[in-house]
Amino acid sequence: MLATSNIFILARYELNCYSQPMTKKILILAGDGIGPEVTKQAVKILDKIGGFEIDYADIGGIGYDNHGHPYPEETKQKAKQADSILLGAVGGEKWDNLDFSLKPERGLLGIRKDLQLFANLRPAIVFDELVGASSLKEELVKGLDIMIVRELTGDIYFGEPRGIETRDGKRVGINTMIYDEDEVKRVSRVAFELAQKRGGKVCSVDKANVLEATLMWREEITKLHAAEFQDCQLSHMYVDNAAMQIIRQPKQFDVIVTGNIFGDILSDAAAMLTGSLGMLPSASLGDKYSLYEPVHGSAPDIAGQDKANPIATIMSLAMMFRYTFADGATADKIENACKAALAEGYRTGDIMQDGCKLAGTEEIGDLITAKI
Ligand code: NAD
Repeated sequence: MLATSNIFILARYELNCYSQPMTKKILILAGDGIGPEVTKQAVKILDKIGGFEIDYADIGGIGYDNHGHPYPEETKQKAKQADSILLGAVGGEKWDNLDFSLKPERGLLGIRKDLQLFANLRPAIVFDELVGASSLKEELVKGLDIMIVRELTGDIYFGEPRGIETRDGKRVGINTMIYDEDEVKRVSRVAFELAQKRGGKVCSVDKANVLEATLMWREEITKLHAAEFQDCQLSHMYVDNAAMQIIRQPKQFDVIVTGNIFGDILSDAAAMLTGSLGMLPSASLGDKYSLYEPVHGSAPDIAGQDKANPIATIMSLAMMFRYTFADGATADKIENACKAALAEGYRTGDIMQDGCKLAGTEEIGDLITAKI
């Protein structure tokens, strides 16, 4: 299964679906804080489009409260039966003192690992209406559309040995950066396949000058490129330079592919080019399963106040249509509806600008739904 990426497998699956129409099952994992508010707006859109079986399950803090675990058994089972999953956010002060293994965030790591969601796609797109919200100059970000592909199930976050121990009377902290060639190839394939449908350029980010794990990464992606993806342009960049280039001249990039820890940091830097966390969607894909979620967290400071921006979650739903259901037309409709609401001047507080109309989570959700 590793030889072919999720995007193609699911596209083929979709073709089968068209020949035998069937209802798609979507699992909503609303989670904590603003999670239920923002996922509710995406469900309005699904209801409007119609033809979906929507189910719900707990994850994160609410999973712990209701089942004693942030990734409960029932959620595990439902996740594996769903055609795709939409997640809100997890976390909050209430669960901060729990044992590490029971914290809400472990629910997220748990589901990613359990479903082998190895490729995390984070687009950084700047809408013309929000170009002023970026902290960079307008000419640097106007029209920006880059895609960061972060490997999500390997690297230093999962490598062994790990831990804190005492050596020669001193405490030492240990983590291990490790990749095998199959892990590199499968995520690189996703990056190349995306580039084929975009600008045809992949920039692989590593630290091959000092880290052997990433030297192997560079060698494997280079071999894969030569063997299967010569229609794309492949370049390599050290991570320190990449961090600088993303801020200096972000439009030079089309698709960036990198390992888990470098991707964690670079994707947050790229996220801020667009101005607000409330606008950023993401997809996590494996060979068999897919999960879509906004990049932001549970925003406890505004939870339950109808202030959260639901656009990141709605754009995550658009990604679900594009990548899991191979239905670009519906994805375009959802994205255009978001742009139309912004063009009419409606804004939640996080992206408020002079002369715009302040709207709540529900109102923005209704406006976008009405435009589909
Ligand atoms: P956060 O993303 O929740 O919030 C950061 C800031 O951005 C806050 O001021 C918040 O109000 C604002 N914000 C975030 N999303 C918004 C939205 N949709 N609309 C308007 N404003 C929005 O990050 P944090 O405050 O560092 O973390 C809060 C909790 O979320 C923590 O428990 C953290 O562990 C968790 N967290 C979860 C995820 C996830 O579920 N994927 C990601 C990051 C943090």
